[in-house]
Amino acid sequence: MTAGCLALNASYEPLTMVPLRRALRLVIDGKAEIVEADGQAPVRSERRAFPRPLVIRLTRYVHVPRRFRRQVTNTFLFARDGYRCQYCGRAAVELKPREGLTRDHLIPLSRGGTNEWTNVVTACSPCNTRKANRLPAEIGMEPLARPTEPHFVHLAWAVRRLTPIQARYIRTFYGEDTLRELERLEGALPRPAEGAVPVTSA
Ligand SMILES: [Zn+2]
Repeated sequence: MTAGCLALNASYEPLTMVPLRRALRLVIDGKAEIVEADGQAPVRSERRAFPRPLVIRLTRYVHVPRRFRRQVTNTFLFARDGYRCQYCGRAAVELKPREGLTRDHLIPLSRGGTNEWTNVVTACSPCNTRKANRLPAEIGMEPLARPTEPHFVHLAWAVRRLTPIQARYIRTFYGEDTLRELERLEGALPRPAEGAVPVTSA
C-alpha cells in the first residue's frame, strides 16, 4: 500500500507527501516529472495510463522557508516525544482504553505559559489531570526530558509513512543519521491504527 507520493523540489530536496491524484495532476500539467514509479500498478486517466508515481520531482524550483513551522501541533509534539508520556513514561500503546495522549504545558497557560516547543510536553490524560494548573516543581512532576524545539526534518518525515524507495531520497538528501532518527520515531509510532490515539489538548 502506498500512502502517497513523495514530492521533491527541483533540487531533489524532499518537500512533502502528496496524494496520488495530485501527483498525477502535476505530472500531466508538466509541473513535475516521475522519478520513481511502482511498476506493478498503472493508474489510468481518460486517455493515458501512467505508472503509479512513488517519487516526483518538480520541474521548477520552489522556494521553501527554512523554518518548518513554529506552531506546535499535537501530531508533531507527540512525534517529538516518541509518543510517550513525559511524566510516567508510558507509551501510547500502553495506555488504557479511555486514556490518551495530551499536550501539557510546563507553565500552565492560565499562569502565563505559552505554546512554544520549550513549554509543552506529551502527557497521558491521567498525568495531565493530576498536574492540573501547577508548575512541575510544585507537584514534583518533572518531565523525563527538557523539551526543545526539534529539527524540522525529523518531524516533517516522522509522521509519514515512507516506502523504502521514498526513504532513500530522504537519506540521499539529509543523510543516514536523519533516516536512522526517523526510523527510531517510526518504531515508536502507535500501531496498528494511526488514528486510534485520542488527540486532545489541555
Ligand atoms: Zn503519564
